[in-house]
Amino acid sequence: MDVSNTHLLDEAVVTTTLDAIVNWGREASLWPFVFGTACCAIEFMATAASRYDISRFGAEVLRFSPRHADLLIVAGTVSYKQAPILKQIYDQMPEPKWVIAVGACASTGGFYDNYTTLQGIDEIVPVDVYVAGCPPRPEAILDAVMDIQRQLKREAKFEVRNLDFKGKLDDV
Ligand code: SF4
Repeated sequence: MDVSNTHLLDEAVVTTTLDAIVNWGREASLWPFVFGTACCAIEFMATAASRYDISRFGAEVLRFSPRHADLLIVAGTVSYKQAPILKQIYDQMPEPKWVIAVGACASTGGFYDNYTTLQGIDEIVPVDVYVAGCPPRPEAILDAVMDIQRQLKREAKFEVRNLDFKGKLDDV
């Protein structure tokens, strides 16, 4: 090929940044770990099934080991007894990782304002997107996944996220 021919060079060479390539890959290959404890988990099942088809957004590879996952989706009520388990799962996920709180219970405890229920998972792990509703519809969960995709495009690529987060189970 005559590299002095700029027209041919334009067709043969693509220039980009490493950040753009890494983000492109991450955006289209989120691997969720679903911590489903109650009714909102059923909505997530609908989100993953054929009608709503989360694979359209590249996030259908659900993992059942936190070490394989980069997107923690908490769908349902979380009790204080479950809180250390959720925290351990989050800690075992490699960086970078993102968190979605699905529904009123995961976001705030919902109407379970009592002595057994964690009043929002952001008391123990950092949350990137909250999804309103009791339960939220599958479209809202898909919108949260797209929100994560939008966020990660704007982030520095090789840094640990949320280093300054301190939850109730940190430093104990
Ligand atoms: S937010 Fe509503 S639907 Fe979701 S887990 Fe709580 S009670 Fe169930």
